Amino acid sequence: MTDLIIIGGGFTGVAAAVAAAKHGAKVTLFEQTGALGGAAYINLINPFMPNGTKLGPDKAYTELTQGFYAEFCRRMSEEFSAMSKKTFHEEYMKILLDRMTKEAGVKVVFHSTLAAVEKDGDAVRAVQVVQKNGLNRYEAKYFLDATGDGMLSALAGVPMRLGRPEDNLCQPMTLCFRMGNIDIEKFNQNRPLMQELYKKFQAEGKIKNPRENVLVFPTMVDGMLHFNTTRIIRKNPVDPDDLSWAEMEAREQMLEMFTFLRENVPGCEKAQLVTSNDIGVRESLMIDGQYVLTEEDLKACKRFDDCIACGNYDIDIHNPAGTGTSHYYFPDGEYYDIPLRSLRPANVENLLVAGRCISVTHEAQASVRIMPICCSTGEAAGVAAAVANAHGVKLDDAPVAEIRATLKADGAFLGE
Ligand SMILES: Cc1cc2nc3c(=O)[nH]c(=O)nc-3n(C[C@H](O)[C@H](O)[C@H](O)COP(=O)(O)OP(=O)(O)OC[C@H]3O[C@@H](n4cnc5c(N)ncnc54)[C@H](O)[C@@H]3O)c2cc1C
Repeated sequence: MTDLIIIGGGFTGVAAAVAAAKHGAKVTLFEQTGALGGAAYINLINPFMPNGTKLGPDKAYTELTQGFYAEFCRRMSEEFSAMSKKTFHEEYMKILLDRMTKEAGVKVVFHSTLAAVEKDGDAVRAVQVVQKNGLNRYEAKYFLDATGDGMLSALAGVPMRLGRPEDNLCQPMTLCFRMGNIDIEKFNQNRPLMQELYKKFQAEGKIKNPRENVLVFPTMVDGMLHFNTTRIIRKNPVDPDDLSWAEMEAREQMLEMFTFLRENVPGCEKAQLVTSNDIGVRESLMIDGQYVLTEEDLKACKRFDDCIACGNYDIDIHNPAGTGTSHYYFPDGEYYDIPLRSLRPANVENLLVAGRCISVTHEAQASVRIMPICCSTGEAAGVAAAVANAHGVKLDDAPVAEIRATLKADGAFLGE
């Protein structure tokens, strides 16, 4: 029997799968699409947001996410020359993630959508997965929810929270898009003009997108820019009707932005449009787990004995209800701990959760949700499952000291 079943092949699920397999677990990863990388390619999310700070006597910049993430970045550069600073080329990413899972001995099964969960008391016994040949049933000793939306947890009866507590609103959804055939130098010279015109058009009602400015990043492709700038507010990302409305509305916003840029911003005159597959979801369901990590914990840099990852990306909240984005930047040298208990539901003994749906408040999620930190929590979940499996015990009985030592031996930063 498979030791660990992982649902979801984003960075979280892949980091977990590779780590668990490396430490002796037999791993099967089910992914509903046909490639690994999750939001990075389905929603064209790029670049990696920073998770690092200046530490030690010489105040050297230290990456707080290491391990799988560091190896991924190194290999993207060495095997494909497909990384520049934190920007990566998604097409090579897919190939590298295929290679990394194959080398680790992970069984990856694409075009497989989790549909149902079978439980036996407090344990998940099996998952039912929709595949091209029908509905199939798979058993394992341990399960990991790496779906982003917490779908496996919700189906397993774990208590879930949606967005912020007062009104359940989540951070806005965004359909990212790219524009090719841009004169980048000319565009860069005219960035201030673009922001000025954007605000003017918005004030005149010619632009309906509620975002406060144009958010744009470089890409690995010559003449192409990445726009993370549409904004769908007040919609529930796990409600089928809201989500469908959001997809259509975001396409209209994208066309509005594309037309605005092409017609008004020097350098964009001959631009061509490239869109992502699906609208991106920053936040949806999160588990109410053994420990709910809060904004206060993050700002106080609270230390936990069962720390399995560290972070200090800013608390970056795109307004769920309108315009504006709020930030809390951690002072130099400060970082917070993520405890293993935030990856564990209280009521299901053989289930782990990692990625953007771990047990955190709306505010804390705004920091832990970035791809590098998802790699960290994914890797930690994979190691936790492998250690429990090696001892033949329940997840809560797996020795935390061994989980932390294994992560550290694999390069993880778990504090100074
Ligand atoms: C618009 C937007 C901009 C962002 N910008 C940045 C940024 O610039 N930098 C950064 O670092 N982070 C950014 N983020 C955050 C980051 O992209 C996500 O939080 C992160 O990718 C989540 O990783 P994950 O592995 O938990 O989930 P995902 O990457 O979403 O992966 C989940 C995987 O599970 C699969 N899946 C889901 N349900 C099922 C099912 N039922 N059965 C089988 N498979 C399933 C999906 O197909 C997917 O492959 C952004 C997010 C959004 C939405």
